[in-house]
Amino acid sequence: MDETELKPCPKCGKEIDIEKDMYIPDRDWCPTFYDPDSGGDPISIHCECGLEFSAHTHDWEEFVEAWNKRV
Ligand SMILES: [Zn+2]
Repeated sequence: MDETELKPCPKCGKEIDIEKDMYIPDRDWCPTFYDPDSGGDPISIHCECGLEFSAHTHDWEEFVEAWNKRV
């Protein structure tokens, strides 16, 4: 089992589209240099059904784990 796999939204059952439904600070916030500890908001999901989720982490694996537990 791939632990970086995101489960579908628990509310609407839709697959989470990493491109459209997620805020990923490494990608969506534009730092002048790469420093995961000092910039941008934590990773979050904003599903089109209105569900929002943030694990208050910048760590992808930690985020996925928190999301999958919630689901
Ligand atoms: Zn949803």
